[in-house]
Amino acid sequence: MKHDVQGRDLGLCLCPVCQKNNALSAHHCSRCGTRLQYRRKISLQQSWALLLTAAILLIPANIYPITIVTSQGRVAYDTIFSGIAHLVHLDMLPIAIIVFTASIAVPWLKIIGLAIYLLAISFKLPIPKRVLMAGFHIIEWIGRWSMLDLFVISITVALVNMGQLMDAKPGPAATAFALVILLTQLAAKVLDTRLLWDRLDVQDDANTIPQNR
Ligand SMILES: [Zn+2]
Repeated sequence: MKHDVQGRDLGLCLCPVCQKNNALSAHHCSRCGTRLQYRRKISLQQSWALLLTAAILLIPANIYPITIVTSQGRVAYDTIFSGIAHLVHLDMLPIAIIVFTASIAVPWLKIIGLAIYLLAISFKLPIPKRVLMAGFHIIEWIGRWSMLDLFVISITVALVNMGQLMDAKPGPAATAFALVILLTQLAAKVLDTRLLWDRLDVQDDANTIPQNR
């Protein structure tokens, strides 16, 4: 086990807002006045709570109808899966792929990726550095695309409402789905990433096989 010198060993603490290096003894950043904490341990609990809630909400988001479309007096209920199946049947494969990516692949990747590094931090699991960093990059990358899901839903509703005989309304799953997006986003946002760097610092490199564990 090796331990590289960290800021806290030198009595330094980084400001989370303006990135200024402050003395650990200071309670507030000397430049911007933000409260300083050398590690936000509570952020791990907060992140777990948000992530688990999001994972539970994925169930209603997938089993209840996400859209209720009334067309010529007939009401059609569509779940995320049946909606994608419909699009494939209607030969709209590119749109089906976009909807699948936005409403199934992205939320699942986010939840799995976050769970991997929360598990690594909380239970000190010997997950290789490469896997941890891959998970970290996936979440960072997906974060930018998080609005895609809502964008797809609004486009779909706008398209359907263009036909005067049709009326589309979001179903109960839409609320659950929107909460999944929001909560996964918050779970990634609240986590103090310095906890992950601490974890990587005391871990053997993934390229070498751990010998005395
Ligand atoms: Zn500051």
